[in-house]
Amino acid sequence: MRSITVLSGGVGGATFLRGLLHGVRRGLVPGVDSDAEVTVVANTADDIWLHGLKVCPDLDTVMYTLGGGIDPERGWGRTAETWHAKEELAAYGVEPTWFGLGDRDIATHLVRTQMLDAGYPLSAVTAALCRRWLTPVLGDGVELLPMTDERVETHVVIDDPESGPEGVERKAVHFQEYWIRHQASVTAHAVVPIGIEDARPGPGVVEAITEADLVIVPPSNPVVSVGTILGVPGVREAIAATSAPVVGVSGIIGQDHVRGMARQLLEVIGVEVSAAGVAEHYGARAYGGVLDGWLVDTTDAASVDRVTAAGLRCRAVPLWMIDHDATADMAAAALDLVR
Ligand code: GDP
Ligand code: CA
Repeated sequence: MRSITVLSGGVGGATFLRGLLHGVRRGLVPGVDSDAEVTVVANTADDIWLHGLKVCPDLDTVMYTLGGGIDPERGWGRTAETWHAKEELAAYGVEPTWFGLGDRDIATHLVRTQMLDAGYPLSAVTAALCRRWLTPVLGDGVELLPMTDERVETHVVIDDPESGPEGVERKAVHFQEYWIRHQASVTAHAVVPIGIEDARPGPGVVEAITEADLVIVPPSNPVVSVGTILGVPGVREAIAATSAPVVGVSGIIGQDHVRGMARQLLEVIGVEVSAAGVAEHYGARAYGGVLDGWLVDTTDAASVDRVTAAGLRCRAVPLWMIDHDATADMAAAALDLVR
């Protein structure tokens, strides 16, 4: 096997990719060449303009994680980060103050915004940024592709916490405001990926799916990470058309997400919060869905039969990404399931 494509969000996807690459390069994933190409199709619907800068959280999390620049404790942003610019902005009373832009991180957003202003599409900008982060560490074998070059922004319809005594009013806020400012703790009613109907897959995205030997859906958020990638017109069609097997890894273990806030968002879109519920939501390719196989954690072994009944191959293996070896084992099990 020479080429693998992964549909990734931020922290969950990047952590999986780090372990996958560790396993592939060391020959720990049977059936995959150690120099196989790995293409990442990353979610861009979390992107936000802040203080005049274009911020792409999931692209940057993947880029910094694979390039060795990520803060390992937080899981996002730069290592050895400082926050002077954020403090200065707050001292000016400039909103929003809830989004943490670190000083080092800001350099990435400045370069990106400048290139976008000069007319380069996001895909070209991302490739340029990756020449700093990925090429020295991983050579040319890893490519990071934005799902689309067009602007798509997930918004969430919430009960406005500032509603007056006349009654609760609803308002739509950017996903980052729901997630970071409100910590996903306000009542949400809908997830709306604005602009997605008019988006086109970014350069190389469709080919990365149709020409891959294996497509992996990592344990990324099924709603606001993988869900938005699949929502770009043409991506589902590519998944349906590819001759590569498509295998997914559950980010739900037991009745909750491992980290992050997938549970809240699954509830908003009416999907049962369980490994089997998410498998049924993605659906089997044989019945118009997107997956051929699905890994659940050993604690969810009882749900294997239910997933199988939905037309998917399924196996229960440990799904905690505690270190690179454990994650590489997950990747090997995923491939073994659909080979
Ligand atoms: P985000 O964009 O930063 O939210 O990251 P992703 O969408 O890529 O991934 C978030 C998801 O990763 C969460 O829903 C978690 O359930 C999942 N996740 C995080 N760590 C682990 C882990 O160790 N094992 C599994 N199975 N899932 C994980
Ligand atoms: Ca994200």
